[in-house]
Amino acid sequence: MPLDLTAYIRDVPDFPKPGIVFKDITPLLKDPGALEAAVQALAEPYRDANLASVAAIESRGFIFAAAVAVELGCGFVPLRKPNKLPAETTSAAYELEYGADTIEVHVDAIHAGDRVAIIDDVIATGGTAAAAVELVETLGGNLVGISFLIDLAFLGGTTKLGDYPVHTVITYNGD
Ligand code: AMP
Repeated sequence: MPLDLTAYIRDVPDFPKPGIVFKDITPLLKDPGALEAAVQALAEPYRDANLASVAAIESRGFIFAAAVAVELGCGFVPLRKPNKLPAETTSAAYELEYGADTIEVHVDAIHAGDRVAIIDDVIATGGTAAAAVELVETLGGNLVGISFLIDLAFLGGTTKLGDYPVHTVITYNGD
């Protein structure tokens, strides 16, 4: 019987602010079997996808995406917070609940036509993932799919990702 990964996700109420139920993945990360199962589940849709790279969003997305890239035999592209990447970048701004943020990618990280998948740990409102999509599109990448370990489906974030195939390992329909 496959592992129930939800057993390794801890709800932390009122973090980082009142009213938010934070999905804490650290119990999953520290369990070797659960970590392995999560990486395998994230990699599964792309086994025959011939990806050039997996692009991931700083910082929890990095944890899974680097392992998925090794599993698939493809590269890893970091999408980072502003002013972290040293060479020439392009950026995408997005709205947060309060204010706005930006993510950046090196302009030579993805070449036109490269087959790319985006991975993050959690999709909530979808703004962050939509900005990641914009970065891949700006560089001319061929976006094959977008994957999340956790979809907070009651927030409807995946509706912001256009018609790209979306894969989620764990779906919450309420908080
Ligand atoms: P989003 O609203 O989809 O742009 O979410 C922004 C980022 O915050 C995502 O990359 C998630 O990693 C994180 N996040 C948002 N809400 C939660 C939550 N309830 N639990 C854990 N992480 C969250």
